[in-house]
Amino acid sequence: MNRYQCADCHKTFIHPAIRVTNNVSIGMNTAPIMSSFEAHACPFCQSLNLEEFVESKPNVVDVVSVDFTEVPNHYNRGYRVHAIYAKEVIMTLTKKEESS
Ligand SMILES: [Zn+2]
Repeated sequence: MNRYQCADCHKTFIHPAIRVTNNVSIGMNTAPIMSSFEAHACPFCQSLNLEEFVESKPNVVDVVSVDFTEVPNHYNRGYRVHAIYAKEVIMTLTKKEESS
């Protein structure tokens, strides 16, 4: 599935919003011409400046299954929540890629 990334607010999303722009052209001797233009827009900031987002494979170095009470503890150590189940939380630790 394609993901998009907004070039302005840098959020990623799967379903872009649709921004519709209506233009009315009025000529001297013709009836007004309505044209509407649909464009994909960022659902967060409405920017039209979208890029396709290619997810880089996360470099998972550790996966743990912890109790809910352990989540903040692991979070502070760099773990991020991957999945939440009724009685446990799966958290992963990924190695930060050098980003330019
Ligand atoms: Zn945006």
